This record gives sequence, structure tokens and C-alpha cells, in this order.
Amino acid sequence: MRKNIAAGNWKMNLTLDEGQKLASEVINMAKGEVSNDAEIILIPPFVHITSVEKLVGSAANVKVGAQNCSDQGSGAYTGETSVSMLKSAGVSYVVIGHSERRELFGEDNALLAAKTKAVLDGGLKPIYCCGEKLESREAEQHFAVNKEQIEEGLFGLSKEEILNVVIAYEPVWAIGTGVTASSDQAQEMHAYIRGLIAEKYDQETADSISILYGGSVKPGNAQELFAQPDVDGGLVGGASLKSRDFVDIIK
Ligand code: PGA
Repeated sequence: MRKNIAAGNWKMNLTLDEGQKLASEVINMAKGEVSNDAEIILIPPFVHITSVEKLVGSAANVKVGAQNCSDQGSGAYTGETSVSMLKSAGVSYVVIGHSERRELFGEDNALLAAKTKAVLDGGLKPIYCCGEKLESREAEQHFAVNKEQIEEGLFGLSKEEILNVVIAYEPVWAIGTGVTASSDQAQEMHAYIRGLIAEKYDQETADSISILYGGSVKPGNAQELFAQPDVDGGLVGGASLKSRDFVDIIK
């Protein structure tokens, strides 16, 4: 069956010292709290990945993720980071298509499909993000927006490939705003996305894929959100920067 996942996306926060302190605290405090069907993923900025990976070491069920990658293999792409580099640094997961990448860096579904494929071809697992903006929800276009992001970003993959993808539904209006989707809104969209996968592939494939919720997840709302049948954990931003809060969410 699918994994439960608590992923902490640090975004562009924390110096090296601060990041090492946070990672050590989370690893120590979460020890013994993570069952074998669950995983913690720490997602620091690129420059901290190697240090965080050393701290994680062989800690059970703790993995390191990256926030982005290039769709290219190597070469003259100043400022970019390839999947093979990430793999050689001990990364297991790569976040693809976070709404901040889509919005601030103009990444479209075609580029994100290429990045997703590069991650899979390199033997790592993408955490593919989708989610609608407030105006789309208000115009009742939220299902259509997520459908397009999922279809264009993922549905070129084979069944074997998509089985290695984690999806994160992150309504843009809930990210960093303190406004969380209600557990009913999250469940409704997660079930919808799983239904799309079942239609395109099959039910067994859909049931094997973890779908995380992201957007102002906090210790106070994580339990209710994660209790929903189609919510398999969270992609946590702000609250993952405080060890106590992130470990409460993990628990
Ligand atoms: P947030 O961010 O938890 O701070 O809302 C979530 C995310 O962007 O992944």
C-alpha cells in the first residue's frame, strides 16, 4: 500500500548552521515515531543538501529531497543542478512544479513534464505539485485546473513510472497564508486526483500513489487533514522550519 509522508520544504530559508540544527533536532525527536509504512523527507536548499544528508545518515525512514532540478543532463546551464548531481549527493526525492516555481519562475506543464521524466530516468522520485489559485476556485474551475496540471505534467508517463511519483495538492490560496483548505476540500480534491489516475491507468495504480496535502499545515490541523482517506500526509512549508512543530505534524 501507499506510504504516509511528512515532507518539510524549507524553501529559501536558513543558513547552514540553522539548517543543521533543525535537521538534527527533527531526526532526534522523530526517532522511533515513524512506522515502516511512513517516511519523513527533509527538503533543504541545494547548498545544504550534503550536510543534511550526512546528518540523516542511516536514520530509519528519513530521506532528503531537493526543491527543484534541471530537465537537462549536464553542460552549459549556469546556475542549474542536474538529477545525477542530486542523486550523487544522496537525494531521494525532487519537488517538481511547486506553485512558486510555476508562478515566479514561469515553469509550465511542458517543462515540468520534462523535469518529472528526468527525475524518474535518474532513479529518483518526483513530488509533483499541483493546485489552483483563489480565482480559479472562486470561478469553480479548480477541478479543471488540477486536471490539466496532472494530465500535462504526468500522463505521458508509463504505469511503472507513475508508480514512483508522489503528488502534492497545494491550493495556492492556502500556501503561506495561514488559511488551510478544510479537510473536506482536501479530501474532495485528493479523491478527484486519484480518480483521474484510476481512469488513465487503473485503480490499483491509483491506490498505490501517495497524495500529500500542502498549504498552511500546522500541528493543530495536521491530524484532521491526514485522517482523510485520500490524504497520505503533507508537504509542509513554514511549520517545517520549527523542529517541535514539524515533529508534532509527523506524529
Ligand atoms: P506552507 O507552505 O506550509 O508554508 O503553507 C507549503 C508549501 O509551499 O509547500
